[in-house]
Amino acid sequence: MMTINRRRFLQFSASGLVGMTLGGTSLTVLADDEHVNPEDVTAKALKYVHKSAVEGAHCYNCTQGHAVEGKDWIACNIFPGKLVASEGWCAAYTKKA
Ligand code: SF4
Repeated sequence: MMTINRRRFLQFSASGLVGMTLGGTSLTVLADDEHVNPEDVTAKALKYVHKSAVEGAHCYNCTQGHAVEGKDWIACNIFPGKLVASEGWCAAYTKKA
């Protein structure tokens, strides 16, 4: 059976905490840089806009969007690796049931 003394456990835990903190920071930076650009080819083809002009139709209530309460930018199945505006819209919009 393997035993870890208290000092070794604390060293291991501290390094894990630092790694998770740095990982969280990099994810935040990545998210800020990865908003869908309405001028991108796919976005343009789907007429994506950051602010919907269609009453009651927004990315936050679309079946393709992954709405998170309180978040202005959310993931969307149509734009993998990018974030769409929660208040946005595109031609692939389908209202959640
Ligand atoms: S499919 Fe279009 S309307 Fe639906 S969440 Fe994605 S970008 Fe928004």
